[in-house]
Amino acid sequence: MEPRIQGLNTHLVHTGELEDPLYHGAVSPLYLSTSYAFDEVDIKRYPRNFNTPNQEALGHKIAALENKEAALIFGSGMAAVSTAIMGLVSSGDHIVFQDDLYGGTRNLALADLRRFGIEFSMAKGLEIKDFESEIRPNTKLIYVETPSNPLLKIIDLDMIGRLAKKHGIISMIDNTFASPVNQVPDEFGIDVVIHSATKYMGGHSDISAGAIATSNELIAPIWSMAKSLGGNLSEMTVWLLERSIKTMGLRVHRQNENALAMAHFLSAHHAIDRVYYPGLVEHPGHEIAKKQMKGFGGMMSFELRSGLDARFFQQQLKLIKPSMSLAGVESTVLSPTMTSHHSLTLEERKNQGISEGLIRFSVGIEEVSDLQRDIEQAIAKTENHG
Ligand SMILES: *Cc1c(COP(=O)(O)O)cnc(C)c1O
Repeated sequence: MEPRIQGLNTHLVHTGELEDPLYHGAVSPLYLSTSYAFDEVDIKRYPRNFNTPNQEALGHKIAALENKEAALIFGSGMAAVSTAIMGLVSSGDHIVFQDDLYGGTRNLALADLRRFGIEFSMAKGLEIKDFESEIRPNTKLIYVETPSNPLLKIIDLDMIGRLAKKHGIISMIDNTFASPVNQVPDEFGIDVVIHSATKYMGGHSDISAGAIATSNELIAPIWSMAKSLGGNLSEMTVWLLERSIKTMGLRVHRQNENALAMAHFLSAHHAIDRVYYPGLVEHPGHEIAKKQMKGFGGMMSFELRSGLDARFFQQQLKLIKPSMSLAGVESTVLSPTMTSHHSLTLEERKNQGISEGLIRFSVGIEEVSDLQRDIEQAIAKTENHG
């Protein structure tokens, strides 16, 4: 494939755009047809075949961003995760997962993969030995997320890429938290890259979508599975997602800056006990993050000083909204113990280091001074509250 010769923002704006030969409009035309005449090369274009004009064009854009040959777009991040895994493993195969997985992916493993006779184990830590010791003769896939949710743990992608190659195993990453702006796993030999495009790619909290980017060789079985599972995204939303991705570089760069400023502010604050952000030198994954990320991202977590009521604190915020999702232009907070990690036992949460008072913070593009003022006033009220 062509080397990545253009800069990031040029790619974001121009790669995979459809021309409008009829009216020469500035943006890609939207083709809503679900029915297409067979063309000379006999491509059977159909939405669930993932090959309509808008799907193909957006696939080119996302593949280029991830430095991969091909990409498919889905109706959600979990459609991408489940299709990628089920397209590449069969009954009797084994998967090594990192231990702290996105909740939906964890459920997929525990509730469904087992049912289909797919074996898996969780690496006990973040080191190479933790992954290597779980590899069995039938291991087909190593699956990681870095930075992870919600503690922003960092896994060395170069280490995972080498380990997978050494054992002839496919490596897969959920790259949602970093976004392709901050991390291109292909640079470290990772084979398959997955995104919940609901997050940074969409970026405005108004699109549900997912994506898989990989080689032509690996996309073939995934594509075949995709056509059977039928998790394609509607054409209208494909078009909207393409529009959103054009500004992803601007948004994510600003979110990186804001998050770093907020992490320093929170670390220095008397009412905050801990801040988990890979951009802080005291974060255990900082050195690796510096090596493999172009920016540290817009996600962090923090703990209020013990004794302060985390739920009350979140209710006092005026600008920053408690919200289930993340990565929008607006800042949001969430309690993992009440939402994404609610289904885990207390013991499991403790093992993962998720305390009751932990607050996950998705930093938006607002003015840092306004975000700081909002947190200050909420802390003051929380300190006066019992
Ligand atoms: C949100 C998310 C998903 C799932 O994406 P949906 O679009 O909600 O299906 C997967 N992985 C990570 C890291 C996420 O944040």
